[in-house]
Amino acid sequence: MLDGEGRLIEYLRLSVTDRCNCRCTYCMPAGGVPMLGHRDILSFEELTEVVAACAQLGVRKVRLTGGEPLVRRGLPKLVRMIRAVPGVEELAMTTNATLLAPVAAELHRAGLDRLNVSLDTLDAARYAELTRGGSLEDALAGLAAARDAGFSRTKVNCVLMGGVNDADVPRLAELARTEPIDVRFIELMPMGPCAGWPKARFIPAETVLEAVPGLQPLRRDGVAELWHAPGWAGNVGLIRPMSHRFCDGCSRIRVTADGRLKPCLHSSEEIPLAGLSGAELRRAVERGIAAKPQRHHLAEEGRSGAGRGMYEIGG
Ligand code: SAM
Ligand code: SF4
Repeated sequence: MLDGEGRLIEYLRLSVTDRCNCRCTYCMPAGGVPMLGHRDILSFEELTEVVAACAQLGVRKVRLTGGEPLVRRGLPKLVRMIRAVPGVEELAMTTNATLLAPVAAELHRAGLDRLNVSLDTLDAARYAELTRGGSLEDALAGLAAARDAGFSRTKVNCVLMGGVNDADVPRLAELARTEPIDVRFIELMPMGPCAGWPKARFIPAETVLEAVPGLQPLRRDGVAELWHAPGWAGNVGLIRPMSHRFCDGCSRIRVTADGRLKPCLHSSEEIPLAGLSGAELRRAVERGIAAKPQRHHLAEEGRSGAGRGMYEIGG
């Protein structure tokens, strides 16, 4: 379906939980957050029905996200259910990978096509500090298990934070030297706990080009600009939500774990879907697509208007 600006909407980011086993400093407040109760989050059947309604309106790609999607029990079952929805051509997941190793093979067999793994540093102490207790060893085991399970074109996503992990950029980029993975560096967006962080934390993605000499421009891949170094198996990507806007080419809608459709990541507008089914649900999704704003105002306003944390929306 086309939105009001004539953009083709074919990508759904579906949050399956607002819970997470990590507490990344930029994503979750230090004091913790009130989590949704089990009764407030959509069941597997409801999530699948939402996907089906979106697919009937032209969505072809679905990404599971969270919170951490792997804390939702029985995820392979949900993967099988969504993969069986007519019209869904690609099913992907964004994960911190710390819980991935034991279930990677099962998820692959269930029909999950691709993975994005979030990894902001390769220093174990810094990883534990940034995630407030997460294990780098577990995340790397998850990444290795993904490869062994047969996942290809896995992407590693790293959020750039000046004075926090910028020194890690060369080592993270090096992952693309030997492995056929794209390592993508994302500008930190002022949302939730990091909205009030000092300006120096928000660094432009071009700093990666200074830190990793020899990169040549390759091509665009969705929201990422890909760069390549001769002889490397994978690529380095830059994602610049702050210094560039992707709004013109935005093909996404988002649904939160409690069943609210967000036409734009950075707007507080939400269309409730919980409790709806059939034609009523489809009409609500249509309303959500039609309500996509022309663009966000992140740069001008200095903070996101999302009205929720990233752990609730899923990125
Ligand atoms: N827990 C999973 C993970 O970390 O991959 C999925 C959910 S997480 C909210 C999705 C992505 O959003 C992660 O890659 C995370 O680094 C990113 N993210 C969270 N807060 C962000 C922010 N303020 N700016 C940019 N990216 C952010
Ligand atoms: Fe959890 Fe992902 Fe947020 Fe980190 S970024 S706290 S792993 S939801």
